Amino acid sequence: MILIQGKGVSKGVAKGPLYFFQRPDTTVVKVTGVDVEAEKARLAAAQETSMAQLEVLAEKCREEAGDEAAVLFETHAMFVEDEDFVECITSIIDDETCNAEYAVEQAGEQFAAMFAAMDDAYMQARSADIKDVARRILDNLMGVVAGGIDSDVPVILAADDLAPSETLQLDKSKILAFATQGGSGNSHTAILARTMGIPALCGAGNALKEEYAGREAYIDGETGALYVEPDELTLAVFRDKYAKQQEMKALLETMKGQEDITLDGRKIKLYCNIGSPEDVTSVLNNDGQGIGLFRSEFLYLAASDYPSEDDQFEAYKKVAAAMNGKRVIIRTLDIGADKQVDYFEMKKEENPAMGVRAIRICLNRPEVFRTQLRALYRASAYGKVAIMFPMITSVWEVKECKRACQKVMAELNAEGIPYNKDTEIGIMIETPSSVFIADALAKEVDFFSVGTNDLTQYTLACDRQANDLGKFFDAHHPAVLRALKMAADAAHANGIWIGICGELGADLELLPTFLAIGIDELSVSPTSVLPLRAAIRKSIAATCTLEALDC
Ligand code: PEP
Ligand code: MG
Repeated sequence: MILIQGKGVSKGVAKGPLYFFQRPDTTVVKVTGVDVEAEKARLAAAQETSMAQLEVLAEKCREEAGDEAAVLFETHAMFVEDEDFVECITSIIDDETCNAEYAVEQAGEQFAAMFAAMDDAYMQARSADIKDVARRILDNLMGVVAGGIDSDVPVILAADDLAPSETLQLDKSKILAFATQGGSGNSHTAILARTMGIPALCGAGNALKEEYAGREAYIDGETGALYVEPDELTLAVFRDKYAKQQEMKALLETMKGQEDITLDGRKIKLYCNIGSPEDVTSVLNNDGQGIGLFRSEFLYLAASDYPSEDDQFEAYKKVAAAMNGKRVIIRTLDIGADKQVDYFEMKKEENPAMGVRAIRICLNRPEVFRTQLRALYRASAYGKVAIMFPMITSVWEVKECKRACQKVMAELNAEGIPYNKDTEIGIMIETPSSVFIADALAKEVDFFSVGTNDLTQYTLACDRQANDLGKFFDAHHPAVLRALKMAADAAHANGIWIGICGELGADLELLPTFLAIGIDELSVSPTSVLPLRAAIRKSIAATCTLEALDC
């Protein structure tokens, strides 16, 4: 047996074969002097595979989201066989006696540029579709495994590290657990693992070796231990923990439908953090009372080009409608730092966490912002949508965001498109600056939501991505908790509510502190709702103290 010690970042135990993430090399190289007929045959085979994949995707989509959503994949299938597109590819192969990969890439770029240059907004939006289709044919030509896991059975997925966009594209049905060499508990990959309720550890370092691939392993997402080829004694511990895990699940089931209220009658809203419309299933399964943070940037991360207003509208509407009148707080685009999106063509920065990210991008690129705000307001007609702005540091930013909202509402009025004119507007408190001026900010908005992941990073000057800061990265630090109290006092003095949507919100140890501070809402991974509810229902708010704020 080999024991690999990492840091547990998503609770739970799992057992299965270790599999190392295959990061596909998708760079296309031009090869000339090839057998053109053989290349055309490869192309035809890749088209056929693409068609079959799209058929499956359309069917899955139809079942999960209805006919309207499935149309996207049907359109893609039409592109795969489009005469002009295919002719363009084959003539590049003929003219340049080159490989099919190069021809597909070139034709894809030509067609995407052609669509992008059209006047009609609908046709312009097809540019992203053609890029997607070209990518699919290319992946099939290059043997890239969809979902990154070439295994018939579910696996413990090991990797050096995973970018949020990579995690997003994984075939989740094949993942029992995650284990990474790098990463940190506050990285977005760890957050996604918790959202999906998949056990995970990070920071295993070089001890996690590729040569262990295929071997049976047992992972404990709480202790951060990974046992390769566990011995009988360790397996007995696993069985015991697994049984307890199942027992706990059954116990938590009894919490469903119960109110989020302390023994002395203090109510607290228990909402969920999500990254995609699909996560709503988990919210509903875990009885979340709303969405406190929809990280809308994951829509951008999952796409190969700017998601259109319509695509975004459909995604937001789906969440709003599924939550059936419960509050859905959608955060505007928060990319930058670890969430990089190629097509934004951002300049390389020395310190991206402190660079042009989140609201700074939106305020610098009004068209991108406008598209998202239009989609959000349109979705507000279908549920209780609230809009939240990330990474706020100044009052002028909030005023500019609100002006952008006013403009979009005026446009929708003029176009006769329905929306909710009383859509709530909130901001994230995740920079020290926003804490210091919380009183002024509170006068501008309907609510605050504290992003403790970034607030901890910026308050303690500790990179949330780094895994070797150890005790220096301390989310329980009195400075972070005092910041929370300052923001809460400012919110309440100005008659607005305050929540926490950072990972700290699910920290059961801090629940009494949150109650003492007077936090009104906690937004957590769906799987954290029921354990928190159980703890809230056992608490007495009046006896909770601010002791944790002492140094
Ligand atoms: C946070 O910073 O705490 C937060 C919720 O936002 P994100 O983790 O997406 O940066
Ligand atoms: Mg943040």
